[in-house]
Amino acid sequence: MSAKCKYCYSKLAEGSSICSICKIDSVKTAKDLTGEEKKVYYQCRTLYTMGFLAMIGGLFSSVILLFAVVAMGLAVLTHQASPSKVGNAAFFAVFTVASLGLSVIWFIFGFALRRYRRWCYGAGIAVYLLAFILNVLAKNFLWAFFSLIFIYYIASPLTKKILYREL
Ligand SMILES: [Zn+2]
Repeated sequence: MSAKCKYCYSKLAEGSSICSICKIDSVKTAKDLTGEEKKVYYQCRTLYTMGFLAMIGGLFSSVILLFAVVAMGLAVLTHQASPSKVGNAAFFAVFTVASLGLSVIWFIFGFALRRYRRWCYGAGIAVYLLAFILNVLAKNFLWAFFSLIFIYYIASPLTKKILYREL
C-alpha cells in the first residue's frame, strides 16, 4: 500500500515523504508548516472538497436524469402521441440527454480535480462559469452566488500553481 500525503491526499512517491503535488513534507505536523505551506494546504483541501461536491452533484443528477430518460421513453412508447406531442417529447429528450452529458462531465471533472489534474484549471473556470450563467438564467440566485465562490477558488493564482505543478 503506497502512502498518501496527509495534506492534499495525493499518493507519495516510493521512499519520499515530500509530496509531488503540494510540495509539503508529510513528516511535518500542521503546526510546523510555514505560512505559504498552510495556504497551499488549505487550497488543496478546498479543491478536494469541490471535487467531491462536483462528483456527488454529477452522480445524483445523472441518476435522476436517467430515470427521466427512461420515463420519457416509456411515455412515448405507450402513448398514441399526436405529432405535436412527439415534437415536444423530442425537444425534452434532447434537453434531457444534453443535461445528462453535462452531469457526466461534472462527475469526471470532480474526479480529476481530486487528482489535481492540469486541465481542471481551464475546465473548472468553464464549468463553474456555465453553472453561474445557467443559475442566473434560472433565477437560482443562491446557487449563482455559490458558483461565484467556486470560480473565485478555481481561478485563483494559487490553484493554477498547484494544478500546473509550479509550486
Ligand atoms: Zn500533498
